[in-house]
Amino acid sequence: MRWQGGRRGGNIDDRRGLGGAGLAGGGVGALVLAAIGYFVFGLDPQTTTQLASQFGGVGSAEQGRRGSPEDQAGAFVDVIGTNVDDVWKTRLRGYQPPTVTLYEQGASTGCGFGQAAMGPFYCPADRHVYLDLSFWRQMESQLGASAADFARAYVIAHEYGHHVQTLTGASQQVQRAQQAASSRAEANRYSVALELQADCYAGVWAANAAAVSNGAVALEPGDLEEGLRTASAIGDDTLQRRQGGRIVPEGFTHGSSAQRVEWLRRGYQSGDPAVCDTFSRL
Ligand SMILES: [Zn+2]
Repeated sequence: MRWQGGRRGGNIDDRRGLGGAGLAGGGVGALVLAAIGYFVFGLDPQTTTQLASQFGGVGSAEQGRRGSPEDQAGAFVDVIGTNVDDVWKTRLRGYQPPTVTLYEQGASTGCGFGQAAMGPFYCPADRHVYLDLSFWRQMESQLGASAADFARAYVIAHEYGHHVQTLTGASQQVQRAQQAASSRAEANRYSVALELQADCYAGVWAANAAAVSNGAVALEPGDLEEGLRTASAIGDDTLQRRQGGRIVPEGFTHGSSAQRVEWLRRGYQSGDPAVCDTFSRL
């Protein structure tokens, strides 16, 4: 993927090197790592709400360096995030960019205490995307997914998708529907629709990336296929199989591999967020 010449918005809150101040329990245990399949690509809004109340409400205590990181990994996140912003500015009236917090191990967030083991996540309460860059390694070593450029960008664009859902109100609607749901399985179906929409939005970003950057950020041959392989690797059925468990469709929270591939592709082929109505398929 081409990105080096892309615009840098500098909307990064860089907390790397702060030593994961306040990290509870002094490390990430095996049990937490086992949960990565569940939390990969973030927490659903219901979970974040529960966390927020559990940890006494909103407001990030820590502050990192603001601006544009100079290292390659940080610059990549800055360029991709800025490009995703530039796409959504053309697609959603009144779009306001989120802040991206880069952290190591743990971070206090508006949704409670974030840990690297949760994978990347979006917190609607403070409108930050939280990203621990060690996740790229985990994608390869634990999830068997590619962590090449476009695969990383897809993960970032998916989290921005949750930000868009907060701006459109879709997240809040899902939260209300989940609270009224009569079973866990029903609540999970809403979660799946929300996650698949975020995948579709990632595809919409990819389709428009080059147009809003004069080609400075652009997919190269093979990139889309790589993204689709990643989407497949993080489907709920594939993750359940990888963890040695039974496939339990009622337990899906993010969608099957086939669904994730389908919606990423659908967003990419159309380039129009209007095609991302996953809720009508509930
Ligand atoms: Zn998600």
